[in-house]
Amino acid sequence: MKISDKLKQRAQGLCELCTTGEASTAYAVSPKNNDIVENEVALCTTCLQIIEGKEAGNHWQCLAGSIWNTEPSVQALTYRILYELKDNDWANEILTSVELEEPVITWAVSAFIKSPIHVDSNGTELQNGDTVVLIQGLNVKGANFMAPKGTIVKKIHLVADNPEQIEGKVNEQTIVLLTKYLRKSM
Ligand SMILES: [Zn+2]
Repeated sequence: MKISDKLKQRAQGLCELCTTGEASTAYAVSPKNNDIVENEVALCTTCLQIIEGKEAGNHWQCLAGSIWNTEPSVQALTYRILYELKDNDWANEILTSVELEEPVITWAVSAFIKSPIHVDSNGTELQNGDTVVLIQGLNVKGANFMAPKGTIVKKIHLVADNPEQIEGKVNEQTIVLLTKYLRKSM
């Protein structure tokens, strides 16, 4: 994802993990997305490539510094990478030497907890950003309108802690929809 001016400014143009490479990517720390800069970490090409699977070598020693960054997104990403390396003494040492806020740790380790998948009424897996069709008319509680059968909902967002729910915009309003009343649109 292209880096925003706001993120570039926060990172002072440098990668927020190694603080040496030039910040070139806005990396959203899953399960959050690029909606807001607070979900993102500015990364250089080297750090991004390692996160995506390239051999790290000694590069991750830089995490001893980035763990002290005050941004929760940077803390969470750093903690997550270290957690994967915790069998190494140096990584374990960093992990046990910091005290991060509970929500940051939860965010960091969420990557290792297999969340239940969202499926539509046919059992087809749904992803963030999918387009779905309502297979029956729905009375939208609180919004006072009826969404007829066949309504197309674009760019859905999966509700992270509930595999039976997604969020989507109907009539310009973001509402929660039950996956059993949807069909994924191909
Ligand atoms: Zn970097």
